[in-house]
This record gives sequence, structure tokens and C-alpha cells, in this order.
Amino acid sequence: MPPIVIVGSGLAGYTLLKEIRKRDTSTPVTLVTADDGAFYSKPNLSNALAAGRSAAALAGASAEKMAADQHATVLTHARVTAIDMQNQRVQTGSGALDYGKLVLALGADPIPHGLSGSGAAAVLAVNDLADYAAFRDALDGKKRVTVLGGGLIGCEFANDLVHAGFTVDVVHLGEWPLERLLPVEAGRRLADSLAALGVNWHFGCTARSVEPTASGYQVGLDNGEAVAADVVLSAIGLRPRTRLAQAAGIPVGRGIRTNRLLETGVANVYAMGDCAEVDGLNLPYVQPLMVQARALAATLAGTPTPVVYPAMPVMVKTPAHPVAVLPPKLGAAGGWKVACGDTGICALHVDDCGRLQGFALTGSETGRRNTLVKELAT
Ligand SMILES: Cc1cc2nc3c(=O)[nH]c(=O)nc-3n(C[C@H](O)[C@H](O)[C@H](O)COP(=O)(O)OP(=O)(O)OC[C@H]3O[C@@H](n4cnc5c(N)ncnc54)[C@H](O)[C@@H]3O)c2cc1C
Repeated sequence: MPPIVIVGSGLAGYTLLKEIRKRDTSTPVTLVTADDGAFYSKPNLSNALAAGRSAAALAGASAEKMAADQHATVLTHARVTAIDMQNQRVQTGSGALDYGKLVLALGADPIPHGLSGSGAAAVLAVNDLADYAAFRDALDGKKRVTVLGGGLIGCEFANDLVHAGFTVDVVHLGEWPLERLLPVEAGRRLADSLAALGVNWHFGCTARSVEPTASGYQVGLDNGEAVAADVVLSAIGLRPRTRLAQAAGIPVGRGIRTNRLLETGVANVYAMGDCAEVDGLNLPYVQPLMVQARALAATLAGTPTPVVYPAMPVMVKTPAHPVAVLPPKLGAAGGWKVACGDTGICALHVDDCGRLQGFALTGSETGRRNTLVKELAT
């Protein structure tokens, strides 16, 4: 009997492996990964600098330990290059591998920054442990960091970098950070809190070029301004990895398309985590992939179990002014009711009948999130 093959050793792949093992210790499982297979929690990448944590310190367990603990085979530095669905086989750099069931947990790639200039190749993005190690090396002995993008990850890095003693500029196309998730008052409060720590904001503009200078780089903005930097970090977003699936003829949209059973529509091939678009939704956060892993483990064990998400607020790890947000469903009627206090903001998204549809909480108000989640569930 060919094994269950999981492709990817991120939180999605490893959480699924653990969930399978909670139910069954005997079904053969092989996890194949393009990287070194170290287990780590990716959210730690954007709050580890100020704590002085190295990439090695963030790696919780090696691939060998994960394999031994989970009674699985873990193949590292083995990129899957093709899927042969007819013969149920994947091709890797080091040979072919038969599967009984195949789970794609491929994650997402940083969106290419598209900058011009001879310094553009030095622009970094941090999306895994190896990237984080390279980022720390680049920061060694440096002072000024320009972050491109004031979304969730950009804000978290900005906060971590100022806490670690760097001078930080953030270039952001919106008029306030996280503008797709937060009403203006909440976004501005976050921006002001980070500015109070020393973050310099450049709103309503985008970076165009990076040129080397005698002392570092000059980041050219589309409003004609220029920002001096020693290190440039791109945090402009991630894009689900769909190429492998698409080449095999598996339907993709924004992500690899699945139904709520995480079936791709091709027999015995499933997708989950950041690479997946589940019933039309790509949710690139930890909580959804945990829900997916539990459901898929049950499905693979013979009990078809659709993914049902609870209300899942997203926490933004900005200790300068924390944020908890649960956006209303796309196209939801109604609007924000915002109450601004000295230590935090409570923004409730309510429909015309006053029913709660989502919320954005900042600072001391984040403590209300569990109560509001319960209110949403009723
Ligand atoms: C800096 C940062 C901070 C974050 N903070 C939070 C947070 O606070 N809260 C939250 O909920 N979410 C957060 N997220 C998002 C969260 O971390 C991700 O949703 C989650 O880690 C994705 O896990 P994944 O396993 O789907 O993908 P990944 O972790 O990207 O793993 C993908 C795996 O697939 C492998 N792979 C890819 N292609 C191939 C191939 N062809 N062959 C073999 N292997 C392949 C890769 O090597 C990797 O092992 C953050 C993300 C980032 C980048």
C-alpha cells in the first residue's frame, strides 16, 4: 500500500502529520519537503529580532526528530517537480515516489517586488527560517531598515525592528496601515503608536527603485522622495504556490482549489494551508490550517469531514499597540461603529439591524475579543 504523501514541512504539513498520528500510528506517511524540514512556528519570524533569537533557536525540532516522533519518513531537500496523477506518483529531484493519497501543503511565495535599480537584487523578504537567517546576517552592524508594505507582516517587522534598536521607515500604498482590515481610526492609532517608537511612515506611495550609495541604498519612491537604508525588506504580500498543481492540470484560482473536504477534484489529491483555496477562500493564517488539518486527518482515516471554521480573529503582533481583527464577510452590509478611548479603539462592524458582523480592536480593547467572538456565534 503506497503511503500518504504530504508535500511541505510548514505548519500545514506537520500539523496534518501530527493529526494523522493522533488517530493512527500504522498508516505509512512520507513527508517530502524542499527545505531542511526543521519544525518551526512561522509567526515567530516577525517578533524574534528584539528577543535576539537566531534561526537555529526558532527551529523547534529537526526533520530527523520529527520523523522519529511521528513514525514517518521525512525526505528533506527534495523538491517535488511533477505530479503524475494517472500513476499516483510524484517526481522529486532524487527520484519518484508513489502515493496512495497526496496532500499539497506548499505554502505561499513572497510577491515579487518588481523594483528597478542595481540595488534591487539586495531587497530581502522573510518567509521561512533560511530567509530569517539571511535577514539577521544582513542586519549585522547596520542601522537603517526600510520596510516595503504596511500590512500585517510589515507592521510586525517594523515594531520588532524598532524594539531591536533600528531606525525604521515603512513605505505603504494605503493611507493607513492594514487599510483592508481596519477602519481609519484603528489604523491611524496603530500608525501613531509605532511612530511614537520612531517608525517613519511614508503613506500613499510605493517604492520604485533601489540604488546602491556609498553608505547603503537609496530607495526611490513614486512621489519623488528618496529614503536612505542599509537593508530593504519587502513585505508586500504572499501568493499561494500553485504552479506545481497547475502544471499537473489540477484546477487553481488564487490558490489550489478544493472543496470543504480539501479534495482538489483530482482523485486522491488534496490541498491545505497557505497554498489552498478552500471553497473559494484562501485564508493564510495558522488557525484555519489547524482546522483543516484536523478535518483532513479524519477524512484520510475514512470519515469524510468537511472543514467548518469557527470565528477566527487575527492577532497583529505589534506590542506597541496590539490589534485583534475579525473582518466582516466580503460584501457584508452595514458599517463600522467606532469608539475611541485613550488606551485603545473598539470598532464594531454592524448591519442595519445592529447585528455584529466583525470587529477591529486595538490596544487595551483587544481584551474584548473572546466576548465578541461569542456574540458573533449567537
Ligand atoms: C512573518 C510572518 C508572520 C506571520 N504571523 C502570523 C500570525 O501571527 N498569525 C497567523 O495566524 N499567521 C501568521 N502568518 C501566516 C502563517 O505563518 C502561515 O499561514 C503558515 O505558517 C503557512 O503554513 P504552510 O505550511 O501552509 O506554508 P509554509 O510554511 O510556507 O510551508 C510550505 C512548505 O512547502 C514546501 N514546498 C513548497 N514547494 C515545494 C515543492 N515543490 N516540493 C517540496 N516542498 C515544497 C516548503 O519548503 C515548505 O516546507 C505569518 C506569516 C509570516 C510570513
